[in-house]
Amino acid sequence: MNTEQSSIWHERAKQVIIGGVNSPSRSFKAVGGESPITISKAQGAYLYDVDGNRYIDYLAAYGPIIAGHAHPHIVEQVNLAMSEGSLYGTPTPYETLFAERLQAVIPELERIRFVNSGTEAMMSVIRVARAYTGRSKILKFAGCYHGHADLVLVAAGSGPSSLGVPDSAGVPASVAEEVVTIPYNDVSALEAVFAARENEFSCILIEPVVGNFGIVTPDDGFLEAVRLVATQYGALLIYDEVITAFRFRFGAVQYNAVEPDLMALGKIIGGGLPIGAYGGKQAIMEQVSPLGPAYQAGTLAGNPLSMRAGMACLDVLMQPGTYEALAKKADILTKEIHAAANTYGIPHTINRYGGAFTLFFGERPVRTYQDAVHTDGKQFASFFHAMLRRNVCLAPSKYEAWFLTIAHSDDDIAHTVTAVQESMRELQSLQ
Ligand SMILES: *Cc1c(COP(=O)(O)O)cnc(C)c1O
Repeated sequence: MNTEQSSIWHERAKQVIIGGVNSPSRSFKAVGGESPITISKAQGAYLYDVDGNRYIDYLAAYGPIIAGHAHPHIVEQVNLAMSEGSLYGTPTPYETLFAERLQAVIPELERIRFVNSGTEAMMSVIRVARAYTGRSKILKFAGCYHGHADLVLVAAGSGPSSLGVPDSAGVPASVAEEVVTIPYNDVSALEAVFAARENEFSCILIEPVVGNFGIVTPDDGFLEAVRLVATQYGALLIYDEVITAFRFRFGAVQYNAVEPDLMALGKIIGGGLPIGAYGGKQAIMEQVSPLGPAYQAGTLAGNPLSMRAGMACLDVLMQPGTYEALAKKADILTKEIHAAANTYGIPHTINRYGGAFTLFFGERPVRTYQDAVHTDGKQFASFFHAMLRRNVCLAPSKYEAWFLTIAHSDDDIAHTVTAVQESMRELQSLQ
């Protein structure tokens, strides 16, 4: 496969854009190789690079593209919105219509505020929790990603109840000291933290199903324990559903029917346009200005383009059978991957939930971030490149997921299975 033009574009990009990418996860730093593929067009389940190669896409732009690329209904609605002006700086019916639709399927969203990214939604919702509780500390779980605001770029300290340390240069130690990070699925660490720091926490942040150290579902009773502890100590429970909402079912994740106090959304609800949203209990959301003292604003927030793209995406997803079909495709694919890996003696673990899954190279189950860290990154990198050479595009990191979309056809799945079989054989020959 010729990817010469991709390399040329990447070299050119590096002269003007820092690192040649506008988000570090797009670089191939984690998997090696000279340059990422440069994509200039996408349609349905396919990405087309600048050399004219076509790839079956399981990256789905890290989640949002669940309807496939350039879905005709979304394109039509966005074109219409554009022709009527993309930004007014005033209220518009579209934001209210969209909020009503979200609330109808996610009743926990008694009041909503739209923003422009998942990062912004998380940053804002934490502020609201702090304003409401009058407390400053936050508790989060290792490996869960909540965007790139200072407060959530904090790594675990030395013990379960110890304060965090900056996970990025430029994050002040004073900010990191506001955060405690403990392992996912670890009820005893959770209880130990609250026993040690009783009433210090404003909130607990959690991905109710994890999408950011691979797909990981909570153990039985884990979310219940988190809810119980939050209620007991007066901390708010915040679900970060930026990646999960509308991914596994039409609405929020609703795993074990545990109810959060506040929630952040993003990705899929924008139909491929920039978006974030947060909301929850009315009494808590009344902290937000102009009603309350917690300030949060945005020039582009609730813009009619994102609102109408989001509604169009929901129109597509609400068709009967959507989620059953996504889950079925993922089920077929994971069974075939499992069989191929076994045929060629490649140790692996597959975590699947609905239409998304992660293939880990390693035999042990993955329930925590540390489990994911210990899987084989070198083997993943070889597999990633072997698949890319066979025109299948995966996320370039062992911590990401494969996302099925409405656009993936039986033929696409069959081609992918063949590519997996050949790639696994290649891995065996490397051993
Ligand atoms: C992607 C993601 C974010 C950040 O959203 P952006 O739109 O990239 O800022 C936050 N939380 C979770 C769970 C995510 O998957």
